[in-house]
Amino acid sequence: MIDLDLVRTWQKEAWNALDLALSNDHLPHAIVLISPGDVGERELAERLADRLVCEEPGKGLECCGKCSGCHLRSQGTHPDVYYVRPVGRMRAINPESMGEMMASLQTKSLKGRAKVVIIEQAEALTRESANKFLKTLEEPSSRTYFILLTTRGERLLPTIRSRCQIIRLLPLSEKDMRRVCEEELKLGGSDADFVIRLSRGRRSKALQLAPSLSEYKKDAADLLEIYGLRDRALPAIREFSVQKYRAMRQLRDDWELEIAKAKKKLSEDLKDADPSVKKVELQKLEDAMVIENAELLQDMRADCYELLTDIWRDIWIVKKGAGAESVLHAFLLPQLERVADIYTEEEIIRNINEINLVRGPAVFLAMQFDVVLQGLLARHVAPAETRVFLRNAIKATGL
Ligand SMILES: [Zn+2]
Repeated sequence: MIDLDLVRTWQKEAWNALDLALSNDHLPHAIVLISPGDVGERELAERLADRLVCEEPGKGLECCGKCSGCHLRSQGTHPDVYYVRPVGRMRAINPESMGEMMASLQTKSLKGRAKVVIIEQAEALTRESANKFLKTLEEPSSRTYFILLTTRGERLLPTIRSRCQIIRLLPLSEKDMRRVCEEELKLGGSDADFVIRLSRGRRSKALQLAPSLSEYKKDAADLLEIYGLRDRALPAIREFSVQKYRAMRQLRDDWELEIAKAKKKLSEDLKDADPSVKKVELQKLEDAMVIENAELLQDMRADCYELLTDIWRDIWIVKKGAGAESVLHAFLLPQLERVADIYTEEEIIRNINEINLVRGPAVFLAMQFDVVLQGLLARHVAPAETRVFLRNAIKATGL
C-alpha cells in the first residue's frame, strides 16, 4: 500500500473532488477511478470505503479511526464492503460473481451504515456481467456505493460509463517518478532516467521494469537488429518469438508446481478439517494462484506489445530527424538510425498502426503467443504474406 499522504499529493484533484462531494453529501452512487496504473487508485478506493462505513466520520474523506466500523476495516473484515474481482484463466468478472454480489446487497447493511462494492479491473466485466450490473445501477438502493477500478477506461461499456461518475487519476510527475525510482526501486543515474522516460508516469510500469531492466534492454537491441535485416529477418523473428514463448511456458510450468506445492501444504494444515470445508479452501487457493499467474502472463504479453510500439515510435521520431533527447531508447540511437534509414515513413506509420490493431485483449488471451508475436514482428518486414498469415491465425481461434 502507498502511504496516504503521498496519494493525497499525487492525486490532489481526485482527492479534493471526493472530499467536496462527501462534505456536500453529493457523492455519486457509482464512481469509476481510471488510473494509468498503481498511482494510488487502490488506496483512494479503500479510503473512500473506510469513510463510507465509518460511524463517526469527520469532514470529507476523514474517518474517526476509533469506531467499530473503522476497526473492522483495519482488520479487513467489514461485512458491508464487498470486493468483486476477475476469476479464472481468462481473468473475467463472470455473471456468477456479479450475482453473488447483488444477492448480498439485498440484505440490510450489517453495521447500519453504507454498503460499498469495490470492483477491481472493471474492464474485465463480461457483457453478460455488465448487463446484470446495469440493472443494479439503474435502481440504486440508497446508501449503496460502487467503486470501479480500471486502467483501461476505454474498454468499459459505454452504458456503464454513462451511469458512473468518471474520475481520472493522473500519471506521476517526473519529480515524483524520480522519487519512486530512488526510494522504492533504488535506481539512480541513467537507469532511473530510462525508467522514468519509458514508464511515462505509470508507477506500475516502473515497478515492473526495474527488476528486468537488462533483459528489456537486450530485447530492444535484439529487435532493432532483427528489423535491420529487413528481407532476411524472418528466421531471426521466428527464433525471437520462440524464445519469448518458451519463457512464458516456463513461467507457467513453474507456477503449476507452485500451485501443487501450496495445495499439498494447505491440505496437510487442514487434515483435521471437515472435508467439504477443506475442498472449498483448496479450490480458493488454486483460483487465487491461477489468477496471479494469468496476470503475470498477460503482463508479459502486454510488455511485448508495448516494447514493439515504443521501438517503432522511436524509429519514426528518428526518421523525422530528432536526436537522442527525444527518443525513449537513447542508448540505441545508432541502431535506431540504421533502421530508420531502411524503412519509408509510410511503412513505419503502418507498422505502428498495425501493432495497435492486434493489441486487443481477446486476441492475445486466446492465441498461442509465439504465433501472434511472430506474425506481428514479421509484418514489418514482409507485410503482404504476414497479413494473410496473421488473419488466418486469428480466424483459427474463432474470434
Ligand atoms: Zn470510524
